[in-house]
Amino acid sequence: MSYLLAPALETLRAQFDQKFPNRSRASDGWIGDAAHRAQGSASDHNPWVVIDGQAYVTALDITNHPAIGLDLNAFTDQLQVACRDQGENRLKYAIHRALLMDTRPQFRPYQWTPSNGHWEHAHFSVHSDRRLLDPRPWNIPMLTGTSAPAPAPAPAPKPTVPAWPLPAGHWFGDWRGPNAQHGGAPGAQYDWERPHIRAIQVKLQQLGLAPGHAGWADGRWDPPTTDAMAAFQRKYRPNQTTIWGKCYSDDWAHLFSL
Ligand SMILES: [Zn+2]
Repeated sequence: MSYLLAPALETLRAQFDQKFPNRSRASDGWIGDAAHRAQGSASDHNPWVVIDGQAYVTALDITNHPAIGLDLNAFTDQLQVACRDQGENRLKYAIHRALLMDTRPQFRPYQWTPSNGHWEHAHFSVHSDRRLLDPRPWNIPMLTGTSAPAPAPAPAPKPTVPAWPLPAGHWFGDWRGPNAQHGGAPGAQYDWERPHIRAIQVKLQQLGLAPGHAGWADGRWDPPTTDAMAAFQRKYRPNQTTIWGKCYSDDWAHLFSL
């Protein structure tokens, strides 16, 4: 038998699409997958409701997308008001962020009760009777109001690149190297190099290119630091790198701009 999404939920989805045309649909859904179908009438994503010979799916999942103002936490609060106080009678239950709002009399109505999952989306079920055929718009302020959606969050500030601390023609690399290669070798005369090398090592850790354990960023350039530096160059500068596993001023500028 062919099946349809309940007209009440068709309308609801169309209202979300109209109000939030750029909304994410990554976690949207309506007809159940094989796992759902094994649940039979326990899942409203299965077309087990038949009215006048037509099978209907009575559940709809809508993806949460607060960055564009589609905050389903706020939406389900408004839905609760509509069902409790304003005569909206089509909703059977909604689940979002592990909270269940069930309108049926066998449950305590309008109580939020812990349930499982539905973190990425909200689930809406309509009643398995003729109310599911009611295609009127849902009178929920988030869908009908004209208030502007929330502004996009400010972009993260670009990190400031620390000044290059070495003379021209010098670089950071293994501590067992020529004089122009700075690696935090043992000895007090190299103490000033170590904070710079530690900063490089911490940045490589933050990028996931070096072991993350405390103590790895020790301010001395050994072969593991060479490997991590080369991994950074392979990932971010494969075409600009001519000397691998060492940090020149251009590597430094790129690394700390990330
Ligand atoms: Zn669902």
